[in-house]
Amino acid sequence: MPLTQEQLAYIQQQLEGLPPEEQQRKMQEILAQLPPEEVEAMRQQQCPFCLIAAGKVPAKAVYEDDMLKAVLDINPANKGHIILFPKKHYQFSFAMPDNEIARIFQVANKLSKAAFEAVGAQGTNIFLANGQAAGQNAPHVLVHIIPRFENDKVGLAWQPKKIEEKDMEEIAQKLKEKKITVGQEKPVIEEVKIEKEEIEGPEILP
Ligand SMILES: [Zn+2]
Repeated sequence: MPLTQEQLAYIQQQLEGLPPEEQQRKMQEILAQLPPEEVEAMRQQQCPFCLIAAGKVPAKAVYEDDMLKAVLDINPANKGHIILFPKKHYQFSFAMPDNEIARIFQVANKLSKAAFEAVGAQGTNIFLANGQAAGQNAPHVLVHIIPRFENDKVGLAWQPKKIEEKDMEEIAQKLKEKKITVGQEKPVIEEVKIEKEEIEGPEILP
């Protein structure tokens, strides 16, 4: 059930005149009191991609299944720029269950091939941003499929940074300690571990 006009007006009244940080805190308070279905309904009333998923905002759909929808981006980086997203509202990709993540990249991969053919792309980028610092500017997980052309001036390149060897080692260690597994018993990273002796220089033949 979506919220009624009266409920929305009540929430608005509660937030009025508060500084932004206070508004956020108050909003969290209100949300915590609502049943999860109403919170979900409220998100859908506000999130543009939930509205597109529900067919309440028109968009040029290019793919749809039970979990996902893909549309042409209305502010494309290049012609044929596609946005693929879960129909359920998730803010970050790591909130999505593994089967939805698997599906979204399977479909992104097929859309990438389709984009090569449909607009004669010479390349594609498949791009996902988690968090504002990464360039996420919608509250919903989006996978961008961007057709690329020679010298198209689409800025997805970066200047490499110098990271100290000991920091690199520490970071790698921290990541390995997470022991990520996907559908296998042991973390893959342990199985490809190379013993130090094996990589220390070539053997000198007599
Ligand atoms: Zn949404």
